[in-house]
Amino acid sequence: MCLSARFWSAAGVRDDAVSELLAWYDRERRDLPWRRTRDPYAILVSEVMLQQTRVEAVIPYYLRFLERFPDVGALASATLDSVYEMWAGLGYYRRARNLQATAQAVVSLGGFPLVLQDLPGVGEYTAAALASIAFGRPAVALDGNALRVWSRYFAYEGAVMSVAARRFFTERVLGLIPADRAGDFTQAVMELGARVCLARQPRCLVCPLQSGCAALARGLTESIPKPSVKARREKVALCALRIFCGDRVLLERRERDPFLAGQWVTPWFFEPFSQVGPDYLARFPGGEPRRVGTVSHGVTFRDLTIEVWEWETSRESCDEEQRWAGLDARLPRLASLVLELA
Ligand code: SF4
Repeated sequence: MCLSARFWSAAGVRDDAVSELLAWYDRERRDLPWRRTRDPYAILVSEVMLQQTRVEAVIPYYLRFLERFPDVGALASATLDSVYEMWAGLGYYRRARNLQATAQAVVSLGGFPLVLQDLPGVGEYTAAALASIAFGRPAVALDGNALRVWSRYFAYEGAVMSVAARRFFTERVLGLIPADRAGDFTQAVMELGARVCLARQPRCLVCPLQSGCAALARGLTESIPKPSVKARREKVALCALRIFCGDRVLLERRERDPFLAGQWVTPWFFEPFSQVGPDYLARFPGGEPRRVGTVSHGVTFRDLTIEVWEWETSRESCDEEQRWAGLDARLPRLASLVLELA
């Protein structure tokens, strides 16, 4: 047997890698509110909020959300409006709706099922994170941070978002997870990706995995993971209306809204004002419409430019799926930007 074979597992991992990683995690871990619990519901809330949102931004939302909906039953029986209200400002609102659907499924099943992916809105990553962190089961959670760490550790030069890459990492990592610290292992990898194995300029000198990292040994840390082909951003022009009645503004809710489905927003359209304005003016007659300006905002792969028009109406009633709201109403970010435009 050659000397190096004594230090490497069949999966290509140094046999001290896991203990080094966990020791680093024990020393360096951030004290985050969702790390103080094993409650699967609270961990689910944190995992859903953390998708596409930074840790620092999530913390106050997470605390407020759990104060308002302290357990799965409270969330399952809440109105969708109240869930959106607690989510307002966090973005990607479909997550809020899916989270409530998950809570309702848990309640109707009488608890979290063994196969977590059977729950609506729970994908492969969330199921693995929940299984390991909340239930202590060995499962490989591959979010963006974990994919970066493992693709470098194994010097995986293919596309990391592919099914083949996921299978490659899962096969190699699953057997490494210590039975008594599955949740810590998952969080240690995530933490390492967030703070050490950075997308640009990874901090290899302080990395607990440095002695076994193939990308570091081969000078490939800047080229792995292979950058994904960037989707071309689409430019979208919209028109939004601010129709005031005294100190209140008209809000609408549309189930089929492509960005903010089911939420209360100031009326907005893909058509220009010349097409949609006259209809609203006829329904909400009043002063002369005024073009206030434009709001620019990026949403996933789209750059939105929203032309904002406003007028004062004398009509105090409104139609179904419409309501008058105070100017301090908590609205989704996009609708707030429209309302705040001076
Ligand atoms: S040694 Fe560097 S590239 Fe390898 S896992 Fe650690 S931080 Fe990432």
